[in-house]
Amino acid sequence: MITTVRERLARLPRVRLAHLPTPLDACPRLSAAEGSAISVKRDDCTGLAFGGNKVRQHEYVLGDAIAQGADCVIQGSASQSNHSRQLAAAGAKLGLEVFLLPKRDAMSAPVQGNHLVSHLLGATITPIDPAESSTRRKDELAARLRERGRRPYVVGMGATRSLTLAALAYVEALVEIVEAGEAPDWIFVTSQGSTQAGLQLGCELLGLPTRVVGVNPMTAAHEAYLPPAQIAALARGAAELLGLASAIEPADVVNLTGYVGEGYGVPSAESLAAIATLGAAEGILLDPVYSGKGFAGLLDHCSRGLLAPGERVVFVHTGGLPALFGYADALTPQP
Ligand SMILES: *Cc1c(COP(=O)(O)O)cnc(C)c1O
Repeated sequence: MITTVRERLARLPRVRLAHLPTPLDACPRLSAAEGSAISVKRDDCTGLAFGGNKVRQHEYVLGDAIAQGADCVIQGSASQSNHSRQLAAAGAKLGLEVFLLPKRDAMSAPVQGNHLVSHLLGATITPIDPAESSTRRKDELAARLRERGRRPYVVGMGATRSLTLAALAYVEALVEIVEAGEAPDWIFVTSQGSTQAGLQLGCELLGLPTRVVGVNPMTAAHEAYLPPAQIAALARGAAELLGLASAIEPADVVNLTGYVGEGYGVPSAESLAAIATLGAAEGILLDPVYSGKGFAGLLDHCSRGLLAPGERVVFVHTGGLPALFGYADALTPQP
């Protein structure tokens, strides 16, 4: 089945952006401390402008954009958006104009982290009011550009086709994990939908009994939140693009909102502890907004005895590391 999945993926329009396959690092010191055999799939090392999961996803998303004749791409998000940073880099590499609509939020100034990097990559950046709907502003900009004869392609929240293509990229990541010789009992990942949907579809297509646990970086109140029913729909939509069948139902999707803490983009005590734990045990960095919260979810499952001794666990590291510099104050040890 791996051959079939690889063949079907190869039929889809694609651009090359990422260093693939990403490494799968065994974590012996962490595993000894936690009692499970934990590895980290290093999608923080996808290569382009500090890496992360969107570089892998944009191979299919921008492949589709170019196949449809797009001449520019539009994304709107929080000011510290990893997605926007990776899109700006991908656009630069492909010669595709990128329009970003970051929110003027608590993390906009001083210009640091992802926000800073996005500015260095040649994107056209128009800050918007935090109360505005990103989806509406993206659609309005697309309409204006079309009136001027441009061919814009909208990505991110509200753009279901781009989210489904992003899921496809994580079917491939799951294939890489299996090709690296790992058959995990559990996968933990920070996900709002696409990444989890792809990993879960990959497990289904390859007939693996792996339990995929998604840790959401936001609660249901956030405008970009996707409920399990929509995550299942992304998985089935991705299967359809491959010409394969999926029976993933909403009830099959475990996507936890209990590790958000105070809110999206606010470092939690548990995410700071998770950053310290993985850093000290393995020399691998996490960020406080996404991967730190997902890893906190994994550590919590270990400490509550929810994983059987010796079970094999893969943590899919989705990146986000430039945020470390944006959040320096919250991350600095207090005397
Ligand atoms: C965007 C992002 C996620 C979530 O990705 P989805 O595909 O939407 O699930 C997780 N972690 C990091 C670091 C991200 O930038």
